[in-house]
Formats: sequence, structure tokens, C-alpha cells
Amino acid sequence: MRFATISDRLSLITASDTVIDLARASRGRFGPGIQDAYQRWDELLEFCATVAEEGTPLSDVPATAFGNPAPNPRQVFAIGLNYADHAAESSFAVPEEPPVFTKFVTSLTGPHATIALPPGKVDWEVELVVVLGRTAHRIAALDAWRYIAGVSVGQDISERDRQRVGPAPQFSMAKSYPGFGPIGPVLVTPDEFDDPDDLELGCLINGEQLQKGRTSDMVFPVPELIARLSAITPLLPGDVIFTGTPAGVGLGRTPERFLRPGDELVSYVRGVGEMRHLMVAGY
Ligand code: ZN
Repeated sequence: MRFATISDRLSLITASDTVIDLARASRGRFGPGIQDAYQRWDELLEFCATVAEEGTPLSDVPATAFGNPAPNPRQVFAIGLNYADHAAESSFAVPEEPPVFTKFVTSLTGPHATIALPPGKVDWEVELVVVLGRTAHRIAALDAWRYIAGVSVGQDISERDRQRVGPAPQFSMAKSYPGFGPIGPVLVTPDEFDDPDDLELGCLINGEQLQKGRTSDMVFPVPELIARLSAITPLLPGDVIFTGTPAGVGLGRTPERFLRPGDELVSYVRGVGEMRHLMVAGY
């Protein structure tokens, strides 16, 4: 199944590409906010399996009506250096433990937005985002996908100077300016994919492809991340995990390249959809 926030309302996109407003279709059993739905995810899936309602054709919905499908998580986890080719371009060894940081919730935004560039070196990182559908604590990798509501496209926008400020490298602030955490356009449940551990992802700037990878190349695949994170921290319904980026970021290029006002960044995961962001001078 595919879910989305369309005009700020929780929506189901059916297999025949119609859009159903779930608050209306359920006569208020579910509210219009998608974030609350993750608390009752199994119940929502059950309802959606039986919902019979005329929807709006998906083709009538403008791309800009789609919002962030996980706008208010209680926790956001992000994983660094989770693809060997990206670790190499960043001059790091392939990690034996996943480096973990957060993107603060105010950095999150939807799949179609302008992003104001702060001073410094603002870089792109396309990532698979996973959203939890159940509380996961001390979960084995083998069971992990059962705790995931779905996947979406994410960008872990990063300001590279700020990342190195301080006595030791720190990521969270440098990756948390407003707009630095886009997610969207839809949330796709794991059962929609032949293999949810092998998805193509990539990004383009002004039509030029700069990143292209496959999630099967992750150092720590999604189930392993769930196992390692949940061994320490309970993961809560609606929590978001940015799972790391493949090679092709601006910092790893010769010469280095960073986002400029006027650039259009398109990010995609095949089978999920694409996001489109315009960079503007904002500071
Ligand atoms: Zn990242």
C-alpha cells in the first residue's frame, strides 16, 4: 500500500491510482494527521484492506499537494558512512559500528519545497528513509521489517563547514537547518517490493545525475540497523531513520561542488517516487 499526506490529510493511494481521504472514509475513526496513524498502524492497514470508496484520480492531485509522510516523529535517527563507496570518497574506513546522529525535527520538510541555503558548503545526500509502524525494542534483524510501516525518499542535506566545528566532528547541528530533512512524496509499505533490501536511489541537480546507488550495497542493511538501534533505544511508532547515502556527494568530488541558489535538486527511490527542491539564497 501507499500512503501520503495530501493537502495535510492522511490519504491512501490505491493500486488503481485513486486517492482516498482516510479520515472521511473511516467516518472519523482515523484522524486527518498521518503521524497519529503510526500509533495504530496495524489497525489502519486492516481498515485499508477493506475500504471501498470512490477516490479522486491520482492524476488530478498536483505534486505540490504532497507533504511529508512523517512530519512529527518523536525520534529521528540518521546513519553515517553506510555505503562503502561513500565512506571511501569521505576518506573514512568502512565502519565496524554504524555512526549515528539525529536530524532535529524542525529540519524536516516535505517533498516539494524551497530550501534556504545558509552560508558555507551545503551538500546533498539522497537516502532511503524508513518509518516505524510498531514499537521496536531489542529486535532481531530477522524480524525487523515487521516493525517498519514503510519507506520513503529522504535527503540528508548537510553543511560541511559546520560539521567540522568543535573539538570533535559532530553532525547533528550541521544537518538540521530548516529544510535540511525533506521526506516524501509517499510512504510505501515493505510488502510492495520484491526485495525491500534492494532499491535503487539517486539524485540529480539541474538534470545532471550525481548520485545513483542500490540499498543492497549498504554496509548495515535496514534490518541490521533496526537490530543495532533497538538494542539500545526503543524505536517508537512514527520514528524516522535516514539510512545513509551512496557515493556522489559534493564533498567527495574533484573539484568539490556544493548547492547554489537556483539549483533544482531531484531525489528519488525507484518504486517510491521523487522529490523536487529549489535552492534559494536565504541568509
Ligand atoms: Zn546522510
